[in-house]
Amino acid sequence: MRKNIVAGNWKMNKSFEEADDLVNDIMTKLEEKELGENTLMILCPPFPYLEMCQDYSNDSYFAIGAQNVNDNEKGAYTGEVSATMLSSMEIEYCIVGHSERRAYYGETDAMVARKVDRLLENDIRPIVCCGEVLEEREAGKQFEVVSRQIKDGLFHLDAEKFGQIIIAYEPVWAIGTGKTATPEQAQEIHAFIRNLIAEKYGKEVADNTSILYGGSCKPSNARELFANPDVDGGLIGGASLQADDFVNIALSF
Ligand code: PEP
Repeated sequence: MRKNIVAGNWKMNKSFEEADDLVNDIMTKLEEKELGENTLMILCPPFPYLEMCQDYSNDSYFAIGAQNVNDNEKGAYTGEVSATMLSSMEIEYCIVGHSERRAYYGETDAMVARKVDRLLENDIRPIVCCGEVLEEREAGKQFEVVSRQIKDGLFHLDAEKFGQIIIAYEPVWAIGTGKTATPEQAQEIHAFIRNLIAEKYGKEVADNTSILYGGSCKPSNARELFANPDVDGGLIGGASLQADDFVNIALSF
């Protein structure tokens, strides 16, 4: 059975001390209220805080993911971080193709495909983001855009490798804007994505793939979003920076 997943994308926020406090607060709250048996929490802090968060995660309240990875194996790429490095720190997950990386750093579907390959070679599960911008949604092109991102970024994988993929549908117009997709809009496109996967890899693979929603998800709307049959949790930005909010979202299944 596919997992319910709540992943926190901290982006470029918090000092080391603040990050340490946040993980501590999350742990304290998780000691008070346990997550559902089928719920997985993943924290995706900035690179410099991975080790600190990883140390806390040994108590297995949550797993740790990176926010990005380079698409090359190793070499002269100043400032970059490889999948091998993440793997040597036992990082288990990594976000790929976030709309901010696509918009500000020119991350293309071809790069997403290479990053996914590097991660899978190193037994790290990619959390692959897709989603349309506002003009595409207004032009009714969301299905076309998401379909292209998924096919070009992921459909070179065989079924076994695809089985490691977590998908995050994140309409760009809902990220950090306070505008959330309605539960109906989320369900419609999540079902479309699951159907795409079923057409390529079969129903079993599709049914086992967790498809997360991202975009201004918060405690007040998480339950309604997660109640949809094809919404298996969330990739959470802003609300993952507050322990209370983030844990309450994770308790919303
Ligand atoms: C994100 O950037 O992945 C995200 C979903 O952000 P927010 O929750 O702040 O909209």
